[in-house]
Amino acid sequence: MRRSRHVPVSLVGAGPGDPELLTLGALRRLQEADVVVHDALVSAEILALCASGTRRIDAGKRAGRRGPSQEWINALLVSEARAGRRVVRLKGGDPFLFGRGGEEALALTRAGILWEVVPGVSSALAVPASAGIPLTHRGVSSSVAVVPGQLAAGAEAVDWAALNAVQTLVVLMAGSRVAAISTALLEGGRPASCPVAIVQRGTLAGQKTRLSTLGALARHGDRERVATPALLVVGEVVRLAEELGGWREALVERARPDARTA
Ligand code: SAH
Repeated sequence: MRRSRHVPVSLVGAGPGDPELLTLGALRRLQEADVVVHDALVSAEILALCASGTRRIDAGKRAGRRGPSQEWINALLVSEARAGRRVVRLKGGDPFLFGRGGEEALALTRAGILWEVVPGVSSALAVPASAGIPLTHRGVSSSVAVVPGQLAAGAEAVDWAALNAVQTLVVLMAGSRVAAISTALLEGGRPASCPVAIVQRGTLAGQKTRLSTLGALARHGDRERVATPALLVVGEVVRLAEELGGWREALVERARPDARTA
């Protein structure tokens, strides 16, 4: 994916949060950008990798507050590119998975502006991994779907019953709707005993996983605070987290000099 020399706009995935999960391509675009238009999910640590003097524009939507409209963002990308500036549109995870990257690419194409996409490590893959949950596992699951827990205006509704055929579900944008989503999945026909992980702040400081079941979450799901960003993993693979979920902590323990032998 060599960069052709004068692509005015790069739609760049920033990964799930940990700067180590940024791609080399993303890092280079950040260092070469004149303007970076970023979402709320992109961490300060990653923004700090921009060259000094790079203009940063926060186009994020935050809880309780509306961000700028998609039309405003599209128009900004077009006008910055027309002004001859090198623009990076930086999004959490991958730009083309629930990131509205496709809409921005269409706006740029229709305005006759060259663009490229630099795929990112999606939270849908990296966050379950960081919690020790393989999305597929021999003998347990060989299918995965990524679905939204909350729908943007104009988006197609999720057919939860149809998703019964899929063994592992990753539900994004689930933060405040854990009980409602669990109820919808139960009504769709999944058993109450179906295990669920709520993975909060995956790959970031303060990462936390809560293990539960659909039945319990449908009854009490919204009683405990869920730190955001958070996603749900639903399916039998979640049981593996009991054995595999401690890998990050184990690494930290190993790396730490042992006080007893020091
Ligand atoms: N394009 C992004 C997803 C955008 S939707 C991607 O590919 O990752 C935003 C949702 O992603 C959040 O509501 C949350 O469900 C999930 N998410 C993003 N980063 C996360 C993280 N570090 N930990 C847990 N969930 C995360």
